[in-house]
Amino acid sequence: MSVDRDEVRDVVAEVRLGKPRALGRLISWIENASPALPMIMKELAPDTGRAHVIGLTGAPGVGKSTTATSLVRAFRLRGQRVGVLAVDPSSPFSGGALLGDRVRMQEHALDPDVYIRSMATRGHLGGLAVATPQALRAFDAAGFDTVIVETVGVGQSELEVAETADTVLVLLAPGMGDGIQAAKAGILEIGDIFVVNKSDRDGAHALVRELRSMIALAERGPHDWKPPIVSTIAYQDRGIEDLLDAVERFRASQVATGRAKARRVARARREVENIALAKVRAEFRLNGEAGLDDLAEAVSRGELDPYAAADRVVVGS
Ligand code: GDP
Repeated sequence: MSVDRDEVRDVVAEVRLGKPRALGRLISWIENASPALPMIMKELAPDTGRAHVIGLTGAPGVGKSTTATSLVRAFRLRGQRVGVLAVDPSSPFSGGALLGDRVRMQEHALDPDVYIRSMATRGHLGGLAVATPQALRAFDAAGFDTVIVETVGVGQSELEVAETADTVLVLLAPGMGDGIQAAKAGILEIGDIFVVNKSDRDGAHALVRELRSMIALAERGPHDWKPPIVSTIAYQDRGIEDLLDAVERFRASQVATGRAKARRVARARREVENIALAKVRAEFRLNGEAGLDDLAEAVSRGELDPYAAADRVVVGS
């Protein structure tokens, strides 16, 4: 894929001005691992580091999309520019219109301060672990105050998305066996705030109680943040103000204790590591794989040990 420098320059300039079309363009380039990305990220780096990233995770059907939409509404009322990045680790296709985006966009279609977008990976080297932080940089550089990253995946992908966020909201809902699932998926450890959505349904109180006792069991220091549980009925926008308040309290406590900064450094570290690993993999595909058959033969015959063979691939010696 060739890179048109003028086009890149125009898109970068327009992203900086917060133009949604340019942001959409850039996210597509990120999705497709455009060779222009290093150049673009270099340009945008000074404009990043401001947006507050909120991760929204939970099993399919708990109400993530509904909650994200309701949060967008609430953040807009507080005068913020809000982005939503819906990450779909299971799908290789996106085109920016998955997950009911079109429906969701309608409400905010004329609002230049809201941008909602899905992202898949389409064979991106390094996958979403590389693409997600880059897309967040794009939102950040475009001047969005808050970006909500929503994942439809379960398991590993949730953890990865959580790692990209400043604040992690874990959503549960009654009647889905979530309490137990949550513990299994390691989700209890990643939640900064727990949301029991569908509080209009039977079992919501029981779920809050179950969660509360599980949170109480988790080990933490006397000054550590104790994750609150917020009850919501997302499709009626109920409890969303409480949720926003909890988010702001968490944010203030993180900033006051210096943890907000530490988390960003940890995030940048993983970002660099993931890009470096993706580069090594790409190099390997270009240069290493060709010689691998011979090396494998030698290792299988016992003429070479696998460590020495790996060194020859990586170091080329
Ligand atoms: P996601 O898969 O986690 O993104 O879940 P969705 O946001 O798509 O919601 C799944 C279904 O639950 C939809 O039919 C929503 O209308 C419904 N839903 C969302 N919030 C609530 C709620 O607070 N109460 C009830 N009863 N249903 C809700």
